[in-house]
Amino acid sequence: MTGLRPAIPFLDLARINDAHTDEFDLVWQRVRKHGGYIGGPEVDRFEAEFAEYCGTTQCVGVGNGTDALELILTGLGIGPGDEVIVPANTFIATAEAVCTAGATPRFVDVRPDTLLLDPDAVTAAVNTTTAAIIGVHLYGQMADITVLAHIADRHGLAFIEDAAQAHGARFRGRRAGGAGVAAAFSFYPGKNLGALGDGGAVVTNDPALACRVRSIANHGRSATDRNRHDAHGRNSRLDSIQAGILSVKLERLDADNAQRRAIMERYVTSLPIDCVPVATDPHAEPVHHLAVVRVPDRDRVTRSLTEAGIGWGIHYPVPCHRHPAFERFPAEAPVAEQAAESILSLPMSPTLRADDVTRVCAELRGVSC
Ligand SMILES: *Cc1c(COP(=O)(O)O)cnc(C)c1O
Repeated sequence: MTGLRPAIPFLDLARINDAHTDEFDLVWQRVRKHGGYIGGPEVDRFEAEFAEYCGTTQCVGVGNGTDALELILTGLGIGPGDEVIVPANTFIATAEAVCTAGATPRFVDVRPDTLLLDPDAVTAAVNTTTAAIIGVHLYGQMADITVLAHIADRHGLAFIEDAAQAHGARFRGRRAGGAGVAAAFSFYPGKNLGALGDGGAVVTNDPALACRVRSIANHGRSATDRNRHDAHGRNSRLDSIQAGILSVKLERLDADNAQRRAIMERYVTSLPIDCVPVATDPHAEPVHHLAVVRVPDRDRVTRSLTEAGIGWGIHYPVPCHRHPAFERFPAEAPVAEQAAESILSLPMSPTLRADDVTRVCAELRGVSC
């Protein structure tokens, strides 16, 4: 029976990128001809475009989103002996970057409605070793940047945004990227703005920080003398081909995000009553990187979705502090732990059709009655 229906993939990247085939071919031809495969004119152009899009003055293209976070921390001089507040409910990379920078992650619980960093829990966690707060804009919704930036200011901490899932999202009218000292973006293929490989960016309004990040990400090289290495650096750069592809896709980002919002609205009106979407803060304009709902009997639901050929995911089944790699950083995060048991990500992509959403909801209704 179900075999006759086409499968609904969780995310159909080939279909998303299919729309740009001719423009991608032109990027490849151009880069192949000029030969500047790394740091070519495509990188300069994309950095300028993406800074403008985020409403910041600076953008530095880097190798991936995890590096972007680590480079911000290192660029700010945050490292051994410093604690960095991160939400317990995030992709593991947020905490990983803190450790790679040599600092200590301090896992803090999330709000029960949005599953984003809880400002009260943040305030309770601040101590004399705290150096920064990383606000993660998870699932495409921005954390409360107004309150979090205020807490950071009051305690003299750096407020950093992990915007890897929130390209183009707004909070009180402000775009993700400009709320703190700096923001990290990922262009991993599945993100709202995705390359055809790895990529990332640091955006900031601080030219000196941008300069340090650019130098560290390029072997600690001096901006004025390429044979002088000022700092102990590393290699994390954005390729010209990926930058060219990102410029093509940036033009469509707002339209794609609007499509994601329309799909989410359709989910919200058609989902069965016991399938509860993660709440949207009234001040937030999310870009729905993921369509996350909470369901009572997740194993049963996922079994039936799989049987019906419908893709799904769980973001994330294990809170960061429960992974063996982070067990040495004990945390109290009952909200994150409870949410991890019931959250489920439904198919979400700008290419998803209205009748696909209807079919997913019908399948979910079938399980719940
Ligand atoms: C994807 C992601 C990252 C890491 O980005 P990569 O480009 O995969 O290194 C960091 N934080 C969050 C919240 C992410 O979703």
